[in-house]
Amino acid sequence: MAINVDKKKCSGCGLCVESCPFGAITVKPREETGDSHPRFEKIAVINEACTFCGACVDACPLDAITITSQVKKPAVDLKEYNGLWVFAEQVDGEIQEVSFELLGKGSELAKKRGCELSAVLFGFFGKSFGKSSGKSSGKNVKDKAKDLIAHGADKVYVLEDKALMNFMDEPYTDALSYMIDEFKPEIILMGATTIGRAFASRVAARIFTGLTADCTELDIDPSSKILLQTRPDFGVNIMSTILTEHHRPQMATVRHKVFSPLDKDTSRDGEIIEVEYPGELSSRTELIESINDDTIKVNLTDADIIVSGGRGLGKPENFKLIRELADQLGAAVGASRAAVDADWIPYSHQVGQTGRTVGPKVYFAIGISGAIQHQVGMRSSDIIVAINKDPHAAIFNIADYGIVGDLFDVVPALIKELKK
Ligand code: FAD
Ligand code: SF4
Ligand code: SF4
Repeated sequence: MAINVDKKKCSGCGLCVESCPFGAITVKPREETGDSHPRFEKIAVINEACTFCGACVDACPLDAITITSQVKKPAVDLKEYNGLWVFAEQVDGEIQEVSFELLGKGSELAKKRGCELSAVLFGFFGKSFGKSSGKSSGKNVKDKAKDLIAHGADKVYVLEDKALMNFMDEPYTDALSYMIDEFKPEIILMGATTIGRAFASRVAARIFTGLTADCTELDIDPSSKILLQTRPDFGVNIMSTILTEHHRPQMATVRHKVFSPLDKDTSRDGEIIEVEYPGELSSRTELIESINDDTIKVNLTDADIIVSGGRGLGKPENFKLIRELADQLGAAVGASRAAVDADWIPYSHQVGQTGRTVGPKVYFAIGISGAIQHQVGMRSSDIIVAINKDPHAAIFNIADYGIVGDLFDVVPALIKELKK
């Protein structure tokens, strides 16, 4: 990409400076830039902080700014692409809940688009984790595929290969890129999980299409039938709806718990299609060991109750209060980024924009101010309980129950009552 300010057109008015969210534009005297103009003494200069977002192009009243793509994109016949795919993510042979949620949303979108809903399942089933020899039993994979059909898929494409047993970037990217070329789906939805994030972007780059990460809403435009991909932008200050108009497939990732799965219906019929990869799938990296985070007793994203602690705890030892309360409630332990950044608790507990999105029945925010980046990860919780000594803390704006007080008084009192 390249951005250019037309020296003849720019009047140096500075309107673009305010429009740039990255502070990439300054207006300078032309003589400083070795340039001159019969009427305009100043000119806009754009520096390397530019992300080519395009905001200044729209802001300039004189059409003086242009962005050009230096990469020639291959032309695509949009009519060749048909159907909505959900990538069914499996870990240790178990389909992840986010895939069922995407099938739930996918079935609504497929109806609006008037197309089939398919799931794509990679793996090597019937074998225990870490053992990459032997043959798949076949039974297990059929059960998984039937489960996907029971959750809304009309078809399930299954590609079984030893190289796909555990997630690895290269073979997964090769396999999905091949399948896209072969079957030409119009839309692909994937979980915004560690796996989905790593691999959706690789696939999108490989097949030269767009990818909208972390969507919070998806819809089909009634007239153009294009996928409307909505996500928070610019530090969650605005919601953007993004369209992939000229390339296919349209690809989006969605976090866990944003959409709901359909009720499982084992009477649903569907087709299971076994796909053969033409050639050998391989990886330059090797999975040596997978280590579980022993600090997690209850899985954060699946928990009905979450007790989260923030910087208000003051020091790492005080997280024991959070753990004690969580134990009493059978809850998972969460944290703000401030607590994670301070090394008080591992990253796997972080809730928020750069952590996990959770939607429990009850969410306790203890010693957490409620910054917008924290809120986006937990505000869809059914009930939010905030404990904070500052009555003006932002968390109280979204809390259903607010306790203004010192957490070192309130939390022990709660634990005492619960123990009774
Ligand atoms: P603070 O904001 O310092 O709040 C501590 C709170 O504790 C205060 O409200 C204080 O009144 C209260 N308190 C202090 N002592 C007591 C006491 N004894 N009793 C009761 N209350 C007490 N943050 C996230 O959480 N998750 C994210 O994913 C995330 N992603 C980010 C991404 C980006 C790009 C950026 C820029 C920021 C991100 N942040 C994220 C950081 C976020 O902006 C905040 O800095 C962070 O959430 C603050 O954490 P906190 O509420 O624990 O700390
Ligand atoms: Fe004004 Fe456009 Fe020049 Fe920016 S680029 S200073 S908006 S004329
Ligand atoms: Fe700033 Fe975006 Fe314009 Fe680049 S394209 S100068 S980031 S407004």
